[in-house]
Amino acid sequence: MNNVYELEHIYKTYKNDGKEFTALKDVSLSVHEGEIFGIIGMSGAGKSTLVRTLNRLEEVSDGTVRFFGEDLASLKPRELRNIRHSISMIFQSFNLLNQRTVIENVEQPLKITHTPRAERRGIAMEMLKIVGLEEKANEYPARLSGGQRQRVAIARALAGNPKVLLCDEATSALDPKITGEILDLLKKINEERGLTIVIITHEMAVVEKICDRVAIIDNGVLAEIGDVREVFSSPKSTAARKLVFPSNPFDPTKSDGRLIRIVFDGLKASEPFIANLVKTTGKTVNILSANTKSVGGIGYGQMVMELPDDVNDQETIIEFFKSSGLAVSEIE
Ligand code: ADP
Repeated sequence: MNNVYELEHIYKTYKNDGKEFTALKDVSLSVHEGEIFGIIGMSGAGKSTLVRTLNRLEEVSDGTVRFFGEDLASLKPRELRNIRHSISMIFQSFNLLNQRTVIENVEQPLKITHTPRAERRGIAMEMLKIVGLEEKANEYPARLSGGQRQRVAIARALAGNPKVLLCDEATSALDPKITGEILDLLKKINEERGLTIVIITHEMAVVEKICDRVAIIDNGVLAEIGDVREVFSSPKSTAARKLVFPSNPFDPTKSDGRLIRIVFDGLKASEPFIANLVKTTGKTVNILSANTKSVGGIGYGQMVMELPDDVNDQETIIEFFKSSGLAVSEIE
Protein backbone atom coordinates (compact mmCIF):
# COMPACT_ATOMS: atom_id res chain seq x y z
CA MET A 1 0.00 0.00 0.00
CA ASN A 2 1.34 3.43 -0.95
CA ASN A 3 1.26 6.30 1.48
CA VAL A 4 0.17 9.68 0.20
CA TYR A 5 1.26 11.34 3.42
CA GLU A 6 3.64 10.35 6.17
CA LEU A 7 3.71 12.65 9.18
CA GLU A 8 6.47 12.03 11.68
CA HIS A 9 6.54 13.69 15.09
CA ILE A 10 4.91 16.93 13.96
CA TYR A 11 4.94 19.89 16.33
CA LYS A 12 3.45 23.31 15.68
CA THR A 13 4.06 26.19 18.03
CA TYR A 14 2.46 29.56 17.36
CA LYS A 15 4.30 32.62 18.63
CA ASN A 16 2.33 35.84 19.14
CA ASP A 17 3.60 38.87 21.07
CA GLY A 18 6.19 36.77 22.88
CA LYS A 19 3.52 34.22 23.86
CA GLU A 20 3.87 30.65 22.68
CA PHE A 21 1.11 28.14 22.07
CA THR A 22 1.74 24.59 20.93
CA ALA A 23 -1.21 23.55 18.77
CA LEU A 24 0.21 20.18 17.60
CA LYS A 25 2.26 17.89 19.79
CA ASP A 26 4.15 14.92 18.40
CA VAL A 27 1.59 13.88 15.80
CA SER A 28 2.63 10.92 13.63
CA LEU A 29 0.31 9.32 11.08
CA SER A 30 0.06 8.10 7.50
CA VAL A 31 -2.64 8.58 4.89
CA HIS A 32 -2.95 5.68 2.46
CA GLU A 33 -3.50 6.09 -1.26
CA GLY A 34 -7.17 5.71 -2.25
CA GLU A 35 -8.68 6.02 1.22
CA ILE A 36 -10.97 8.56 2.80
CA PHE A 37 -9.19 9.61 5.94
CA GLY A 38 -11.05 11.54 8.63
CA ILE A 39 -9.50 13.86 11.20
CA ILE A 40 -11.95 14.62 13.97
CA GLY A 41 -11.77 16.57 17.19
CA MET A 42 -13.46 19.26 19.21
CA SER A 43 -13.19 22.91 18.24
CA GLY A 44 -9.68 24.17 18.95
CA ALA A 45 -8.16 20.68 18.95
CA GLY A 46 -5.73 21.52 16.15
CA LYS A 47 -7.47 20.00 13.11
CA SER A 48 -7.16 23.04 10.83
CA THR A 49 -3.56 23.53 11.85
CA LEU A 50 -2.91 19.90 10.99
CA VAL A 51 -4.60 20.03 7.59
CA ARG A 52 -2.71 23.21 6.70
CA THR A 53 0.59 21.40 7.27
CA LEU A 54 -0.43 19.00 4.49
CA ASN A 55 0.10 21.61 1.77
CA ARG A 56 2.55 23.74 3.73
CA LEU A 57 0.11 26.57 4.23
CA GLU A 58 1.47 26.10 7.75
CA GLU A 59 5.16 25.39 8.39
CA VAL A 60 5.74 22.77 11.07
CA SER A 61 7.93 23.75 14.02
CA ASP A 62 9.40 20.29 14.22
CA GLY A 63 8.93 16.91 12.56
CA THR A 64 8.46 15.92 8.92
CA VAL A 65 5.54 15.94 6.48
CA ARG A 66 6.19 13.71 3.48
CA PHE A 67 3.96 13.79 0.41
CA PHE A 68 4.58 10.71 -1.76
CA GLY A 69 7.91 10.38 0.03
CA GLU A 70 8.93 14.00 -0.48
CA ASP A 71 9.69 16.16 2.53
CA LEU A 72 7.52 19.25 2.00
CA ALA A 73 9.83 21.44 4.09
CA SER A 74 12.77 20.76 1.76
CA LEU A 75 10.98 22.03 -1.37
CA LYS A 76 12.06 25.24 -3.10
CA PRO A 77 9.24 27.73 -3.86
CA ARG A 78 8.95 26.55 -7.46
CA GLU A 79 8.85 22.87 -6.46
CA LEU A 80 6.30 23.67 -3.78
CA ARG A 81 4.10 25.43 -6.34
CA ASN A 82 4.26 22.39 -8.59
CA ILE A 83 3.43 19.96 -5.84
CA ARG A 84 0.52 22.12 -4.68
CA HIS A 85 -1.17 21.44 -8.01
CA SER A 86 -1.50 17.86 -6.81
CA ILE A 87 -3.11 18.94 -3.53
CA SER A 88 -6.58 20.45 -3.84
CA MET A 89 -8.56 21.89 -0.99
CA ILE A 90 -12.17 22.76 -0.29
CA PHE A 91 -13.39 24.87 2.60
CA GLN A 92 -16.44 25.57 4.72
CA SER A 93 -16.81 28.97 3.02
CA PHE A 94 -16.44 27.59 -0.57
CA ASN A 95 -13.99 30.41 -1.55
CA LEU A 96 -15.39 30.93 -5.05
CA LEU A 97 -14.69 34.03 -7.13
CA ASN A 98 -18.01 35.87 -7.18
CA GLN A 99 -17.10 38.04 -10.18
CA ARG A 100 -16.58 34.92 -12.31
CA THR A 101 -19.12 32.49 -13.70
CA VAL A 102 -19.31 28.92 -12.47
CA ILE A 103 -17.30 27.55 -15.39
CA GLU A 104 -14.68 30.28 -15.08
CA ASN A 105 -14.28 29.32 -11.44
CA VAL A 106 -13.78 25.68 -12.38
CA GLU A 107 -11.21 26.68 -15.00
CA GLN A 108 -9.04 28.52 -12.47
CA PRO A 109 -6.53 25.73 -11.67
CA LEU A 110 -6.15 25.06 -15.41
CA LYS A 111 -5.38 28.71 -16.07
CA ILE A 112 -2.62 28.56 -13.49
CA THR A 113 -1.07 25.60 -15.31
CA HIS A 114 -1.46 27.43 -18.67
CA THR A 115 -3.79 24.84 -20.19
CA PRO A 116 -5.04 26.14 -23.59
CA ARG A 117 -8.48 27.77 -23.48
CA ALA A 118 -10.43 25.22 -25.53
CA GLU A 119 -9.03 22.34 -23.53
CA ARG A 120 -9.81 24.22 -20.31
CA ARG A 121 -13.46 24.60 -21.24
CA GLY A 122 -13.74 20.92 -22.11
CA ILE A 123 -12.21 19.75 -18.83
CA ALA A 124 -14.25 22.25 -16.79
CA MET A 125 -17.49 21.09 -18.44
CA GLU A 126 -16.56 17.48 -17.70
CA MET A 127 -15.97 18.35 -14.02
CA LEU A 128 -19.30 20.17 -13.84
CA LYS A 129 -20.95 17.04 -15.19
CA ILE A 130 -19.36 14.96 -12.43
CA VAL A 131 -20.87 17.25 -9.79
CA GLY A 132 -24.19 17.50 -11.66
CA LEU A 133 -24.06 21.22 -12.46
CA GLU A 134 -23.38 21.49 -16.17
CA GLU A 135 -26.58 23.50 -16.56
CA LYS A 136 -25.25 26.16 -14.21
CA ALA A 137 -22.01 26.70 -16.15
CA ASN A 138 -22.79 30.33 -17.00
CA GLU A 139 -24.42 31.34 -13.73
CA TYR A 140 -22.68 33.43 -11.10
CA PRO A 141 -22.02 31.82 -7.69
CA ALA A 142 -24.30 34.31 -5.92
CA ARG A 143 -27.29 32.69 -7.63
CA LEU A 144 -26.48 29.22 -6.35
CA SER A 145 -27.43 27.50 -3.09
CA GLY A 146 -24.78 26.55 -0.52
CA GLY A 147 -24.76 22.93 -1.65
CA GLN A 148 -24.40 23.97 -5.30
CA ARG A 149 -21.53 26.32 -4.44
CA GLN A 150 -19.71 23.51 -2.69
CA ARG A 151 -20.25 21.35 -5.79
CA VAL A 152 -18.62 24.07 -7.89
CA ALA A 153 -15.72 24.16 -5.43
CA ILE A 154 -15.39 20.38 -5.76
CA ALA A 155 -15.45 20.62 -9.58
CA ARG A 156 -12.74 23.29 -9.39
CA ALA A 157 -10.72 21.14 -6.98
CA LEU A 158 -10.91 18.20 -9.41
CA ALA A 159 -10.07 20.21 -12.55
CA GLY A 160 -6.34 20.23 -11.85
CA ASN A 161 -6.38 16.42 -11.57
CA PRO A 162 -5.07 16.36 -7.99
CA LYS A 163 -3.62 13.37 -6.16
CA VAL A 164 -5.37 14.30 -2.94
CA LEU A 165 -8.36 16.39 -1.90
CA LEU A 166 -8.26 18.09 1.50
CA CYS A 167 -11.66 19.05 2.92
CA ASP A 168 -11.58 21.52 5.81
CA GLU A 169 -15.03 21.45 7.47
CA ALA A 170 -16.41 21.37 3.92
CA THR A 171 -19.95 20.48 4.97
CA SER A 172 -20.17 22.42 8.23
CA ALA A 173 -22.13 25.29 6.68
CA LEU A 174 -24.68 22.96 5.05
CA ASP A 175 -27.86 21.43 6.42
CA PRO A 176 -27.90 17.65 7.07
CA LYS A 177 -29.64 16.69 3.83
CA ILE A 178 -27.26 18.70 1.65
CA THR A 179 -24.32 17.48 3.75
CA GLY A 180 -25.42 13.92 2.93
CA GLU A 181 -25.52 14.71 -0.80
CA ILE A 182 -22.07 16.31 -0.79
CA LEU A 183 -20.63 13.34 1.14
CA ASP A 184 -22.22 10.93 -1.36
CA LEU A 185 -20.58 12.91 -4.15
CA LEU A 186 -17.17 12.79 -2.43
CA LYS A 187 -17.56 9.03 -1.95
CA LYS A 188 -18.45 8.59 -5.61
CA ILE A 189 -15.39 10.60 -6.68
CA ASN A 190 -13.21 8.55 -4.32
CA GLU A 191 -14.51 5.29 -5.75
CA GLU A 192 -14.63 6.19 -9.42
CA ARG A 193 -11.41 8.20 -9.66
CA GLY A 194 -9.48 6.53 -6.83
CA LEU A 195 -8.89 9.98 -5.35
CA THR A 196 -7.47 10.07 -1.82
CA ILE A 197 -9.53 12.36 0.41
CA VAL A 198 -8.66 13.84 3.80
CA ILE A 199 -11.64 15.19 5.72
CA ILE A 200 -11.38 17.52 8.69
CA THR A 201 -14.56 17.68 10.72
CA HIS A 202 -15.99 18.08 14.19
CA GLU A 203 -19.03 15.97 13.20
CA MET A 204 -19.15 12.26 13.98
CA ALA A 205 -21.84 11.72 11.35
CA VAL A 206 -19.47 12.82 8.59
CA VAL A 207 -16.80 10.31 9.64
CA GLU A 208 -19.36 7.54 10.11
CA LYS A 209 -20.83 8.09 6.69
CA ILE A 210 -17.78 8.06 4.45
CA CYS A 211 -14.41 7.66 6.14
CA ASP A 212 -12.35 4.45 6.00
CA ARG A 213 -9.98 5.43 8.80
CA VAL A 214 -10.09 8.14 11.41
CA ALA A 215 -7.63 10.04 13.57
CA ILE A 216 -8.90 11.68 16.75
CA ILE A 217 -7.12 14.86 17.70
CA ASP A 218 -7.48 16.10 21.25
CA ASN A 219 -5.71 19.17 22.51
CA GLY A 220 -3.07 18.95 19.79
CA VAL A 221 -2.35 15.29 20.48
CA LEU A 222 -3.22 12.26 18.36
CA ALA A 223 -5.49 10.45 20.83
CA GLU A 224 -6.43 7.49 18.66
CA ILE A 225 -6.20 6.30 15.06
CA GLY A 226 -7.65 3.33 13.23
CA ASP A 227 -10.35 1.80 11.12
CA VAL A 228 -13.58 3.77 11.63
CA ARG A 229 -15.55 0.67 12.64
CA GLU A 230 -12.92 -0.38 15.13
CA VAL A 231 -12.54 3.04 16.74
CA PHE A 232 -16.30 3.57 16.90
CA SER A 233 -17.11 0.12 18.23
CA SER A 234 -14.47 0.08 20.96
CA PRO A 235 -13.03 3.53 21.49
CA LYS A 236 -9.97 3.27 23.72
CA SER A 237 -9.00 6.85 24.52
CA THR A 238 -11.05 9.18 26.68
CA ALA A 239 -11.24 11.64 23.76
CA ALA A 240 -12.62 8.96 21.45
CA ARG A 241 -15.17 7.81 24.03
CA LYS A 242 -16.36 11.37 24.49
CA LEU A 243 -16.87 11.74 20.74
CA VAL A 244 -18.47 8.35 20.18
CA PHE A 245 -20.70 8.32 23.24
CA PRO A 246 -21.11 12.00 24.01
CA SER A 247 -24.26 11.94 26.06
CA ASN A 248 -23.59 9.34 28.68
CA PRO A 249 -25.72 10.55 31.58
CA PHE A 250 -24.38 7.94 33.91
CA ASP A 251 -21.81 8.84 36.53
CA PRO A 252 -20.16 5.58 37.72
CA THR A 253 -18.78 7.25 40.85
CA LYS A 254 -22.32 7.41 42.26
CA SER A 255 -22.86 3.65 42.37
CA ASP A 256 -21.61 1.20 45.03
CA GLY A 257 -22.18 -2.07 43.14
CA ARG A 258 -19.85 -3.89 40.78
CA LEU A 259 -20.05 -2.31 37.33
CA ILE A 260 -19.28 -3.74 33.95
CA ARG A 261 -19.33 -2.38 30.44
CA ILE A 262 -20.28 -4.61 27.55
CA VAL A 263 -19.47 -3.64 24.00
CA PHE A 264 -21.35 -5.24 21.16
CA ASP A 265 -20.96 -5.03 17.40
CA GLY A 266 -23.62 -4.95 14.72
CA LEU A 267 -24.36 -8.65 14.66
CA LYS A 268 -25.00 -8.85 18.37
CA ALA A 269 -26.94 -5.60 18.53
CA SER A 270 -30.00 -7.23 17.06
CA GLU A 271 -30.00 -10.05 19.59
CA PRO A 272 -32.16 -9.64 22.71
CA PHE A 273 -29.25 -10.60 24.94
CA ILE A 274 -30.65 -9.10 28.14
CA ALA A 275 -33.85 -11.11 27.69
CA ASN A 276 -31.70 -14.14 26.92
CA LEU A 277 -29.70 -13.55 30.10
CA VAL A 278 -32.82 -13.66 32.21
CA LYS A 279 -34.20 -16.66 30.32
CA THR A 280 -30.97 -18.67 30.46
CA THR A 281 -29.59 -17.82 33.91
CA GLY A 282 -32.58 -16.41 35.79
CA LYS A 283 -30.33 -13.49 36.85
CA THR A 284 -30.97 -9.81 36.23
CA VAL A 285 -28.80 -6.75 35.91
CA ASN A 286 -29.44 -3.08 36.42
CA ILE A 287 -28.79 -1.21 33.16
CA LEU A 288 -27.33 2.18 33.97
CA SER A 289 -26.67 3.47 30.48
CA ALA A 290 -26.89 2.30 26.92
CA ASN A 291 -25.68 3.84 23.73
CA THR A 292 -25.92 2.51 20.23
CA LYS A 293 -24.88 3.84 16.88
CA SER A 294 -25.21 2.79 13.30
CA VAL A 295 -22.00 2.85 11.31
CA GLY A 296 -22.34 2.00 7.64
CA GLY A 297 -25.65 0.33 8.35
CA ILE A 298 -24.24 -1.84 11.13
CA GLY A 299 -25.05 -1.20 14.77
CA TYR A 300 -22.45 -0.66 17.46
CA GLY A 301 -22.96 0.07 21.08
CA GLN A 302 -22.14 -0.32 24.68
CA MET A 303 -24.02 -0.77 27.90
CA VAL A 304 -22.99 -0.05 31.44
CA MET A 305 -24.65 -2.25 34.04
CA GLU A 306 -24.59 -2.87 37.74
CA LEU A 307 -24.31 -6.51 38.81
CA PRO A 308 -26.17 -8.07 41.76
CA ASP A 309 -24.34 -8.31 45.11
CA ASP A 310 -23.90 -12.10 45.08
CA VAL A 311 -20.42 -12.92 43.74
CA ASN A 312 -21.54 -16.22 42.18
CA ASP A 313 -24.38 -14.46 40.37
CA GLN A 314 -21.89 -11.91 39.09
CA GLU A 315 -19.69 -14.64 37.62
CA THR A 316 -22.70 -16.39 36.05
CA ILE A 317 -23.75 -13.18 34.34
CA ILE A 318 -20.25 -12.31 33.11
CA GLU A 319 -19.80 -15.85 31.79
CA PHE A 320 -23.13 -15.60 29.97
CA PHE A 321 -22.11 -12.37 28.21
CA LYS A 322 -18.68 -13.71 27.32
CA SER A 323 -20.12 -16.94 25.92
CA SER A 324 -22.48 -14.81 23.82
CA GLY A 325 -19.41 -13.22 22.22
CA LEU A 326 -19.67 -9.85 23.93
CA ALA A 327 -16.63 -7.92 25.17
CA VAL A 328 -16.90 -7.39 28.92
CA SER A 329 -14.76 -4.96 30.89
CA GLU A 330 -14.80 -3.86 34.52
CA ILE A 331 -15.44 -0.26 35.46
CA GLU A 332 -13.32 0.77 38.43
P1 ADP B 1 -9.52 23.30 15.13
O1 ADP B 1 -9.38 23.34 13.66
O2 ADP B 1 -9.45 21.91 15.67
O3 ADP B 1 -10.70 24.05 15.65
P2 ADP B 1 -7.17 25.01 15.09
O4 ADP B 1 -6.12 24.22 14.40
O5 ADP B 1 -7.85 26.07 14.31
O6 ADP B 1 -8.24 24.02 15.77
O7 ADP B 1 -6.54 25.69 16.39
C1 ADP B 1 -5.86 24.94 17.37
C2 ADP B 1 -5.37 25.87 18.44
O8 ADP B 1 -4.34 26.70 17.93
C3 ADP B 1 -6.46 26.78 18.99
O9 ADP B 1 -6.27 26.92 20.37
C4 ADP B 1 -6.17 28.11 18.29
O10 ADP B 1 -6.56 29.18 19.09
C5 ADP B 1 -4.68 28.07 18.11
N1 ADP B 1 -4.27 28.82 16.91
C6 ADP B 1 -4.64 28.58 15.64
N2 ADP B 1 -4.06 29.44 14.79
C7 ADP B 1 -3.28 30.26 15.56
C8 ADP B 1 -2.41 31.38 15.28
N3 ADP B 1 -2.21 31.80 14.04
N4 ADP B 1 -1.81 31.96 16.32
C9 ADP B 1 -1.98 31.50 17.59
N5 ADP B 1 -2.77 30.48 17.92
C10 ADP B 1 -3.41 29.86 16.92
